[in-house]
Amino acid sequence: MRYSEMFLPTVREVPSDAEVISHQLMIRAGMIRKLTTGIYSVLPLGYRTVKKVEQIIREEMDGAGAQEVYLPAVQPAELWEESGRWKFYGKELLRFKDRHNRECCIGPTHEEVITDLVRNEVKTYRQLPRNLYQIQTKFRDEVRPRFGVMRCREFDMKDAYSFDADEKGADLSYEKMFKAYTRIFSRVGLNFRPVEADSGNIGGAYSHEFMVLADTGEDALAFCSACEYAANLEKAEIAKPAALQIDPSQFKALETIHTPNVRTIEEVSAFLGVTPQDIVKTLIFVADGKAVAVLIRGDEEVNEAKLRNFLGADAVELATDDIVLAATNSPKGFAGAIGIKADVYADYSLMNRVNVVMGANREDYHVKNANLGRDYGVKAFADLRIVKESDSCPRCGKPVRFARGIEVGHVFKLGTKYSKAMKATFLDRDGKEKFMIMGCYGIGVGRTVAAAIEQQHDAQGILWPMSIAPFHVIIIPVNVKDENIAKAGEELYRELEEAGLEVLLDDRDERAGVKFNDADLIGIPVRVTIGPKSLAAGNLEIRMRKTGEMKTIPVKEARAFIKDLVKGELKSLNDPNH
Ligand code: ATP
Ligand code: MG
Repeated sequence: MRYSEMFLPTVREVPSDAEVISHQLMIRAGMIRKLTTGIYSVLPLGYRTVKKVEQIIREEMDGAGAQEVYLPAVQPAELWEESGRWKFYGKELLRFKDRHNRECCIGPTHEEVITDLVRNEVKTYRQLPRNLYQIQTKFRDEVRPRFGVMRCREFDMKDAYSFDADEKGADLSYEKMFKAYTRIFSRVGLNFRPVEADSGNIGGAYSHEFMVLADTGEDALAFCSACEYAANLEKAEIAKPAALQIDPSQFKALETIHTPNVRTIEEVSAFLGVTPQDIVKTLIFVADGKAVAVLIRGDEEVNEAKLRNFLGADAVELATDDIVLAATNSPKGFAGAIGIKADVYADYSLMNRVNVVMGANREDYHVKNANLGRDYGVKAFADLRIVKESDSCPRCGKPVRFARGIEVGHVFKLGTKYSKAMKATFLDRDGKEKFMIMGCYGIGVGRTVAAAIEQQHDAQGILWPMSIAPFHVIIIPVNVKDENIAKAGEELYRELEEAGLEVLLDDRDERAGVKFNDADLIGIPVRVTIGPKSLAAGNLEIRMRKTGEMKTIPVKEARAFIKDLVKGELKSLNDPNH
């Protein structure tokens, strides 16, 4: 490709609405342009990288036995009503009515459509397992679209869905996808880590997220400093404490104390001269329409995803003032477990604690020396809190560490959630009708590109891994008005293209400095400079974008040298043991 002919509008200024570096660089390198909030056009340079990521995904999905399909973006509401998600998906789902007043949505994901397709076509165990995937546009009306294509509203996702006859098969399908994802992100050149994840809105049995480690990542991760354990903070577990052991002989007499306007943990601990650990925080939530109280130590925070999973609820949110009033007979700030009108669950942090402080369920009052069994009861103790860096690994007991990550992929074992709801059954070997066991597997294509930039850039621009670079080589004739230089540039361009490399020839009549800056900004891994002095000596200058390493080589050897360089890097990225 000739730079002079390419639609490649680079810009020097950092766009004002771009908070993270990948967003800034994608705009500045002329890869994307914003159409409107969370919706972007992809320009030629950006699309070259997108297609490379897609190609790697396709090769690995095909290699793992999945088959490519292409499903519609517009989906009928009836399918979502069958699965139960029409009600629960919320405002992220873009809903509309067609001219016949039929309700529709633009797919944010395709479990319903694929389940419908497969239930209509697959009738017996002989047609299983199947794994179908697509690379297709999704729409999610995100609350806070930001970071460019990292969290946008319209984006391309690779989504795959597996259907198996039994649990063993479903686990195998999951494992194959897990391995394929590991290969995909290695080949893309990312430093990533699979972590245990919450199954969220899509629901299901278990799941892993593939996280690209980056300080700007929106997700917090906890991982063990000693063993393999790694999990999204939403999911990260606390080791189950030893069994409940309370000695009632330690119980002190319950006291009710006037605490006017003292509501928060800080205020209560200052007022009563106790530590936050001595206080029990009582939080009222609404889980699928029902009020529940959660007790937790004053210095800990409730993890709503854990609570939702523990209760098996579809939705959990903090209760509104009127619900708090109904449950505790008092405004917010004085809730406690004694006499509360809600089911009470307690976090493990409270196990075996005696003589605690809590709200009195009466305005302006707290109690001291409250004790489990004597003064209040709980339905169950559970792991309901957010892990802290001072917690220990739930698997091996060593300290956990925190990191930040960008979720580029997600694998879920769905089980029979959708096949039951939508009656996707088959006749098994024993002649019995059974539900198919499903898995679903997503990768955000644009987010993967952005994550690669987030991880690999410097002050001058992008540092593409060879496997997804829009071009392998950029040739810069420093002065195209000099006939010899221009000719040498054209020749090398032809030779390298013939050798099967992807080459950008910067044939613009621009100053060398401008060309070098653009080459650095767009991040082409190999830069070849053709200048008057070196050319007169029969040489070219080669510079590696990532390391800054320079080499002078004879023009005659250039073709073979550059070809080996590019192919060598591609090979090492494609090597599964890389
Ligand atoms: P997040 O928690 O970041 O919103 P998610 O859990 O909703 O992600 P999935 O439903 O698992 O995401 O979607 C699969 C993949 O699609 C994600 O791993 C991510 O790479 C990509 N993705 C999801 N939402 C967006 C978005 N708004 N913009 C770009 N990519 C996205
Ligand atoms: Mg999301």
